[in-house]
Amino acid sequence: MAPPFPNVNPNTCTLGNSPTYSINVTKAEDAIAGVKFAKQHNIRLVVKNTGHDYLGRSTGKGALSLWTHNLKNIEFLDTYNSSKYTGNAVKMGAGVQGYDVLAAGEQNKKRIVAGYCPTVGVVGGYTQTSGFSALSGAYGLGADQALEWEVVTTEGEHLIASPDKNSDLYWALSGGGAGAYAVVISLTAKTWQDGKVAGAVLNLNHTLSDAFFAAFAEWQTQLLTLNQLPGFQSAFQTTQTTFAINFISWPGHDSSEVRKVLTPYTDYLKAQNLTYNLALSDDTSYWTHYERYEEDLPLRPLLHLRRHHQPLDSAESCRDQRRRPHQRLPRDPC
Ligand SMILES: Cc1cc2nc3c(=O)[nH]c(=O)nc-3n(C[C@H](O)[C@H](O)[C@H](O)COP(=O)(O)OP(=O)(O)OC[C@H]3O[C@@H](n4cnc5c(N)ncnc54)[C@H](O)[C@@H]3O)c2cc1C
Repeated sequence: MAPPFPNVNPNTCTLGNSPTYSINVTKAEDAIAGVKFAKQHNIRLVVKNTGHDYLGRSTGKGALSLWTHNLKNIEFLDTYNSSKYTGNAVKMGAGVQGYDVLAAGEQNKKRIVAGYCPTVGVVGGYTQTSGFSALSGAYGLGADQALEWEVVTTEGEHLIASPDKNSDLYWALSGGGAGAYAVVISLTAKTWQDGKVAGAVLNLNHTLSDAFFAAFAEWQTQLLTLNQLPGFQSAFQTTQTTFAINFISWPGHDSSEVRKVLTPYTDYLKAQNLTYNLALSDDTSYWTHYERYEEDLPLRPLLHLRRHHQPLDSAESCRDQRRRPHQRLPRDPC
């Protein structure tokens, strides 16, 4: 649950803003029963998946909650046919999280446009409010992947929404807002052929100087060109002591190409006498690339910052490019 919404007061035993009662939804009939009960008794109804919602829309004081977290089925489909799409697809239960389906994708040699954050629910708020991924540069937003939604409506009907059937509902759910139109039971989404992915991180240690701010501004300028490269995607952050390109993902490319397209920026840093650390990577699948940059859950964000604070041995170093032993990420860290 996002920090402002759980009841964190250690001195009370009250529920705070949490729902009064939750149904563990394991099949459509559970959601139908919940919707009908809430309607009959005029009770506030909320749908909760992982609880990542920044605005607390998956919780609600006094509500009946439909908890979709345990709908974890994942089925890869060799062919999915509709008037809009023919190709590979994956059917995901509403509780599937990013790392569930990305790891399963590797086994099936497929990529799925899940979020940067491994614990966000793919089918819940992510796809229903558009969904931004390290693969968005290559394949578009999460909502662009939606082929059909299996839902329970507010009338308690169990139906499919696709571009061909119940199309208004399909378009509303595909990026139009979460938890508002129906209770989603599963989503069938596009998959993409897996293969090599090049990556990089760049850390720039600094004190709050004009040269640092100029380097930060220069990165924004460079992005105008880099973002034109098909499939190229990056994320950055800055703190009081570092500017970091957290990761670059470039599916279908090699690290030598990443180095090349970053050269105008690294040349700029060298010319300004700014110390930086560039680490490049090559992986054979999206999952191994993703795991490389999303390791150490659930503490990854903190460890990531700590790494940025470590002293640098050299101006530029290459990361160990051997594949690390496959580590399954711990479940449910959030
Ligand atoms: C740490 C963190 C990292 C994030 N990283 C990314 C990222 O990389 N990319 C990105 O695009 N976004 C990211 N987000 C934002 C995230 O996508 C949204 O917060 C999203 O709403 C979370 O969806 P959820 O289903 O996991 O969470 P929940 O809080 O459980 O649900 C969010 C909303 O979806 C509704 N909902 C959930 N399940 C269903 C269902 N089965 N049927 C109908 N409605 C449902 C809820 O009612 C609520 O309105 C991040 C958020 C956090 C907190």
